[in-house]
Amino acid sequence: MQTLDARFRQLHDRIVAAEKQFNRDPGSVQVLAVSKTQPPAAIAHIFQLGQRDFGENYLQEALPKIRDLAGLPIHWHFIGRIQANKTRDIAESFDWVHSIDRLKIAQRLNEQRPANRDPLNICLQINLEDETGKGGIAPADAPQLAAQLASLPRLKLRGLMCIPAEHPDIESQRSVFARMRLLQATINGHGYKLDTLSMGMSNDLEAAIAEGATLIRVGTAIFGPRPT
Ligand SMILES: *Cc1c(COP(=O)(O)O)cnc(C)c1O
Repeated sequence: MQTLDARFRQLHDRIVAAEKQFNRDPGSVQVLAVSKTQPPAAIAHIFQLGQRDFGENYLQEALPKIRDLAGLPIHWHFIGRIQANKTRDIAESFDWVHSIDRLKIAQRLNEQRPANRDPLNICLQINLEDETGKGGIAPADAPQLAAQLASLPRLKLRGLMCIPAEHPDIESQRSVFARMRLLQATINGHGYKLDTLSMGMSNDLEAAIAEGATLIRVGTAIFGPRPT
């Protein structure tokens, strides 16, 4: 648990340093703690250090953990691939979904979001480098999907998310993330108010912060290496 504390502190030192270096407002970058493979006790420990937003990739794994931790006011984010027959559990158990790349999935979440909960916060997943086998829509298709989502009242479109391929140096990482910033500006130019750029992970969070990330998704740098 001591190593968790130390890693969590080091992460926040990295964020503060990057905010300063790249002229970001202090506190403008939030952390989504990616807790896949982590047991509830580790999540509860990080919660008790002040972390409120946690991200999970696999529904089967996430649901029992969400149930175990129901006593804590955690904001749960779904960040994995979505199968159409799993949307009801996602709509009922999560506060955010980052991995929307199809209208059909969005429509199902909209229909299944319980009436007694706030609208589900949504990010469109963007496949920036046309990687096959990876989720996300092409940047050119994002404005149209944003427009289609605008008519779904139980969803709230908040922003864009990406999982880029690994790039070795900060300059090439930045050039990929910069395209997300431009795409956000393009969509907002059509009258939307996207306030979220979900980008940057343990290994490239500085580059993402440099290019305007508001929510970095961090697993390893908080919890340590995952079991393989
Ligand atoms: C696992 C995962 C992360 C966190 O990755 P780390 O390199 O451990 O920080 C972020 N986003 C998504 C979508 C993930 O699947």
